[in-house]
Amino acid sequence: MPFTPFHMGPGAAIKAITGGYFSLTVFGFAQIIIDIEPLIRILRHDSVLHGVTHTYIGAFIIGLFSLFAGKALFQCLFRGWNALLNYKYLRWLQVNSNISWLASATGAFIGTFSHVFLDSIMHSDVQPFFPFTLHNGMLHFMSDGWLYLLCGILGIFGLMVIRVVGLWNKWAIEIN
Ligand SMILES: [Zn+2]
Repeated sequence: MPFTPFHMGPGAAIKAITGGYFSLTVFGFAQIIIDIEPLIRILRHDSVLHGVTHTYIGAFIIGLFSLFAGKALFQCLFRGWNALLNYKYLRWLQVNSNISWLASATGAFIGTFSHVFLDSIMHSDVQPFFPFTLHNGMLHFMSDGWLYLLCGILGIFGLMVIRVVGLWNKWAIEIN
C-alpha cells in the first residue's frame, strides 16, 4: 500500500478522462485484491510486507484475475442495485450496469500496474522487477507526502469531472 484508498485518486482521474473505456470499479477491485498479501503479512507481523503480488509479473496475474472476477462481480452488484431502485422516484439513483471487456481490461491492468508503480516509490521492500532484478530504481523518487497529495488532488479532480459528465449525460452516477 500507500493505504489502499489513495490508489483510487489516479483511478478517478483516468475514469474522468476515458469514461466508458475504463472501469473504475474493476480498478478498485484490483486494488483490494493486490493488497490482500500485505494485509495478511501485517497481521502476521512479517518483516517483508510486499512480496510477489507487488511485482509487475504479479500485477499481470492479478490483473488477469480482476478482469474476469471484477467484471462479473460488479455487473452483478449493479444489476441488483438497479433492481432495488426500480421505482419512479428512485430511478435517478440507478447506474449503468454494463462493463465492457475493454473497460474491464483497462481498469484491471492499469489498476494493478499503477499500484505496483506507486508502491515502488513508497516502500523499500517492493521489488517490482523480480525475478529479473531486485533493484528498485523508483524508490523515494518522490516523498510520501507529495505522493499522497498528488493522489488526493487527482481523486478530487476525477470525482468532480465524473459528476459533471454524469449530469451532462443524464446519468446520475457514472462510476461503472
Ligand atoms: Zn499495495
